[in-house]
Amino acid sequence: MTIFQKIIDREIPASIVFENERVLAFRDIQPQAPTHILIIPKQPLVNIADMNEDDIALVGEVFWCAKTIAKDLGLSDYRLVTNNGSGAGQSVFHFHVHLLAGRAFDWPPG
Ligand code: AMP
Repeated sequence: MTIFQKIIDREIPASIVFENERVLAFRDIQPQAPTHILIIPKQPLVNIADMNEDDIALVGEVFWCAKTIAKDLGLSDYRLVTNNGSGAGQSVFHFHVHLLAGRAFDWPPG
């Protein structure tokens, strides 16, 4: 079981900023920017590579929620990141989108 599943199941605490039946969003415990929120589906999905066609609407909703949260926080400039696989920086194997804002971001990313 991943740490994010434990957050979904309320076995460990998190600073939750948004929730509906399918999606949960909470603040990253090690923020990399003044705003750093993780948006996750409640249904287990490892990463983008693990998606099948049945997951298209759910993954779309995760991004929709990211947009809604950003709008509610008054953010116009932000970065959305999803790391797919350990070589790309994925450390929690439950799909998540990072919403980062509040500072300048380099391109290309490190
Ligand atoms: P990634 O490396 O893309 O898989 O991102 C995983 C993120 O989860 C990292 O930014 C971690 O800081 C964050 N994280 C790990 N454990 C927790 C936790 N208990 N609560 C909130 N964020 C967490």
